[in-house]
Parts: sequence; structure tokens; C-alpha cells
Amino acid sequence: MAKRDYYEVLGVQRDVDAKVLKNAFRSLARKYHPDKNDSPDADENFKEIQEAFAVLSNSEKRQVYDRYGHEPPGGSPFGSSGFSGFNMDFDDIFSGNLGDLFGSFFGGSSRRRHSGSRGNDILLRHIVPFQSIFDGSEEEVEIDLPTACEDCEGSGAMDPDALSTCRDCGGRGQVTVREQMGPFINQSTRSCSSCSGRGQLIDEECEFCDGHGKIQKEQKLRFNVPKGASDGTRLRMRGSGEPAPLGRGEAGDLYIELRIEDHPWFERDGADLLMSLPLGYPDLALGRTVSIPHFDGNDLEIKIPAGARSGQTLEIAARGLPDARSRGRGNIIVLLKMYVPKKLSRAVKKSLEALRNDLSLDDAKTLDEVRNDADERRNNH
Ligand SMILES: [Zn+2]
Ligand SMILES: [Zn+2]
Repeated sequence: MAKRDYYEVLGVQRDVDAKVLKNAFRSLARKYHPDKNDSPDADENFKEIQEAFAVLSNSEKRQVYDRYGHEPPGGSPFGSSGFSGFNMDFDDIFSGNLGDLFGSFFGGSSRRRHSGSRGNDILLRHIVPFQSIFDGSEEEVEIDLPTACEDCEGSGAMDPDALSTCRDCGGRGQVTVREQMGPFINQSTRSCSSCSGRGQLIDEECEFCDGHGKIQKEQKLRFNVPKGASDGTRLRMRGSGEPAPLGRGEAGDLYIELRIEDHPWFERDGADLLMSLPLGYPDLALGRTVSIPHFDGNDLEIKIPAGARSGQTLEIAARGLPDARSRGRGNIIVLLKMYVPKKLSRAVKKSLEALRNDLSLDDAKTLDEVRNDADERRNNH
């Protein structure tokens, strides 16, 4: 799919000011935030809005975009792999400093805000059977996860007195380095290596967690697989990620990425399902009803009309997957294919030979059909 124009994505004119842009972003983000919108495309839509806003809210990047579009000299401003989206709390949409949040995308700086005071996010992959996305199953997983050590409340120190302020950074966790580069003084800030950016040193380590402040502990996670969820959907469990360093600050989030097992014969297209059905020539020519078991509990009756053609599709309405947006169900699209046995008995061969003239095209008719087929193809495009 072609990449959409950023202004179009945000639904604004090309000359809008920063305020209108921000409002447009907010109202779309509110609509597509994955916490509020469980449609299968919400994640993708949300990412698209984020990307558009990241570029257009940065006056420098916006100028470049206005001039060169999606392919500026030097490549994507997000680096070679492009924009990957980021996890934004619903509340963040309304925060005053949207600019700060988005500004950090460019120039290779850290993408995480609260770095240092916030624990890391954890991503778990969880495989569910295809049936789960029809029924919407409830899952329970037992897994070892890092949790704050109860003995030291996550500080990693034997007791509160066993912590001291790091002298190298004065407890700030960051050090400023000045370097003379020709006529310039280059000043940069980086995480203090003595205390790993924590600002404090542990004099005596907690015996229970060896100073790590966290231990692996088995936890039971319960979550629901949303009906019609798409492969790769991420469910967020806020605050269930890694605890914050030193036990201060928020814990990270835990994401559960759903992997959905393939169905033995359906391919998904959102809530619609595609399958192909091989049929012998007599079934195509004379018509037939094929009945196959279906995940909704009722057999799927596929009525093949007489004179059906290989390559033709039939649509069975509302027997696909639940569609979160319409609250209905998607359709099933059946592609008819001609089944030709690999081996034929002598008797069948003989019967077929007898029918060949009646069922086949001679050279002149073949050319007519070739023309008809070409016309049909063109008219369908
Ligand atoms: Zn401990
Ligand atoms: Zn330090």
C-alpha cells in the first residue's frame, strides 16, 4: 500500500498552524488509541497518526517533508528501518508537552522518557489457537517475571542506611562531559558509569537479591483474547513490567503479543476469510452443495451453481470472524478451483476420451475464449 500523505492522515490543510495540528492529532489519537479501539487496524492507524504528527510537529522536518515528501535526500528521518511507533499512554495524548514526547524521535536520542526512573517494558509472546479469536478466550499463563525484591523493597541494599550518594555524579545519575573540539566546546551529558545512572551506590548488598533489587518470581497472568484479534496484537498490562531501578519510580509495562495459529484452510483478511475449494469438472458443470465443518459450530454449506467456473469466487455472508467495528461478522470468500486427479484408470480415460469433443474447445473456439477472457480481465480492472 502506498504511504499516505501526512496531512491527509491527520485530515488537515497543508498550511495549518501548530495548534490546529495538535488538536487534529489529539482527536484522532483519542479515536485510535489501542486502549480505546479494539478494531484490528487500530494499532496500524495509531502508528500512522503518530508518524505523521512526529514529522509535521517538528518545523524543520515539516519543511523537509513539504519539499520532498516521503523520500527526502538522506532517507527517512526515522532511520533506515522507518518509523516503528511507540507506546503512548492514553493520558499522554492530552499532556501539555506533546512536543517533547515526539521531539525525541529525531537525532538518535533515547525514545523513552522516564529513562532511569522507570523499569523496562517486557514483551511476552503468547500463541493462541485460531478458535480463540472466534470465541474470545480467557487465557491464564504462569511465568517467571522480575519483581521487586521484598526484602529490600527493590533498593538492592541490605537496609536503607546501606545506600550512599554516588560521588561521581553527585546523585544525579548523569555526568556532563566537556570536550574541546577545535574552536568549540562540545558539552554532552551521559549516564554515570559508576552508579549505572542510579545516582546511588549500594554499600552492602541485600542478601536475598544480591543487590539486583529484583528477583524472578512465578506469576499468574490472566487476560482476554479479544474476539477477532489480529496476529501480533499487543495487550498491555500496565505496571506489570520490570520494577523501577532502586525501587523508585514506576514499573515498566508488560506487553503480551498474541500470535494466532493458522487455520488449516482459511486465510484471514481482517474479519473476512478466504479459502479455496477444489471441485471436479462434473461438480462445476452440474452444480453441487459441499458441506464442511465450521468453527462456529454449524457446518458451512457451500452451494456451487451449475456452470460454475474454476477461478470464480462465491461469498458466504456473515460467517467469518467477529468484526469489532461493525459488531457483525466478516464474510467467507470461496475460490473455486478445478480438481484434476493425478492418475486416471483406463476405464475413466476411455470415458473421458469419448466426452472430449463435447467438453473441449476446438482451435477456433479456443481463440474466441482467449479473447473473451482477456476482455473480462480488463473490464474487471
Ligand atoms: Zn533485595
Ligand atoms: Zn553516579
